[in-house]
Amino acid sequence: MILPKFRHIRPRSIEEAVQLLAEYGPETRLCAGGTDLFPRMKYGLIRPEAVISLKGIPVKTPKVAPGGELHLDALMSLAEVARSPLVMKQAPILAEAAFNVGSNQIRQMATLGGNLCLEPRCSFYNQSHTFQFVDPCFKRNGDQCYLLPKGKKCCAVFCGDTASALISLGALVNIAGPQGNRELSVEDLYTGDPLRPIDISEKEILTDIHLPVYPLSRGSSFGRFSLRGGVEFAALNVAVTLDMGEDKTSCLKARIAVGAVRSAPVRMIGAEAAMAGNRLSKERIEEAAHLAAAEAHPFPHHGYTAPYLRECLKVETRRAILLAKKRVDGI
Ligand SMILES: Cc1cc2nc3c(=O)[nH]c(=O)nc-3n(C[C@H](O)[C@H](O)[C@H](O)COP(=O)(O)OP(=O)(O)OC[C@H]3O[C@@H](n4cnc5c(N)ncnc54)[C@H](O)[C@@H]3O)c2cc1C
Repeated sequence: MILPKFRHIRPRSIEEAVQLLAEYGPETRLCAGGTDLFPRMKYGLIRPEAVISLKGIPVKTPKVAPGGELHLDALMSLAEVARSPLVMKQAPILAEAAFNVGSNQIRQMATLGGNLCLEPRCSFYNQSHTFQFVDPCFKRNGDQCYLLPKGKKCCAVFCGDTASALISLGALVNIAGPQGNRELSVEDLYTGDPLRPIDISEKEILTDIHLPVYPLSRGSSFGRFSLRGGVEFAALNVAVTLDMGEDKTSCLKARIAVGAVRSAPVRMIGAEAAMAGNRLSKERIEEAAHLAAAEAHPFPHHGYTAPYLRECLKVETRRAILLAKKRVDGI
């Protein structure tokens, strides 16, 4: 498959890139690592007239702010994120999630920002046009969904791995645009609408990720399930962050985010509430895993049925909570 013709522009700074986005208009796309953008262009799913490559912009090294927050450049490659000593110390669950994305080759090219801005996917849509159904689906300006035939809207699934980890940590993103910079929580970045999946306009760029301080009493763990590991997108992923009391057995606060089940990553509020303020006994962890499976309402996707995904979610949530708890104990 070959790429269609397009104009390639390589700005040297974020300010220049923002200016170029405004100049070239909506038929332009940003390219960070290109590992998601170029396959979509090759499939003919999008045909931008111009591509603004962010590869010419120097990448800032990770930095700890005076308040202890960790600042990461959105242009860092996932390989750099996974092996950064600062990330491993201050956000180990993010290093774990980044390491789980694709293969080594993908992680060398792919960026953290690109992973957060990944387009929701669907096995009926992410195909060459030759294999697509004749009548267009919602994502191709049609009026039907092949994934959920009775659905009244597009049900493509957000399969990015790092977003769940960042949501469980309560991270923020910085967005640069013609009006200046604005900050948004990673949780609020996702709209849940696959036709406009992220709350970033065509004139804006995601530039930085800000991670809060990682307390000593915190434990976290990232779980992911797919039949062929990193060669394919996750069937689902689970990120668990636990803040434990001094006794290390009672949970003060829990954040659980699940990805690749719906059009946006989702917080498991019921499961979090079941753990917060309670001793994390075997029964309590089991209850939280059951609640997560009940509240996720997964879309059946990429050949996985909804009951199968619910069962997987129960197993992965249980595993991730147990591991997060062990990590607080230093095991
Ligand atoms: C074989 C294969 C396996 C894969 N496996 C996984 C996997 O297991 N898990 C996973 O999460 N992903 C996977 N991917 C998808 C993809 O490689 C990753 O999600 C990657 O992190 C995307 O980052 P990128 O920098 O290459 O994004 P790009 O392809 O450059 O961009 C992706 C989208 O984000 C937009 N964008 C990029 N950067 C910015 C920015 N700074 N601000 C605003 N918009 C931006 C682009 O315009 C584009 O729409 C896989 C891809 C392939 C080909």
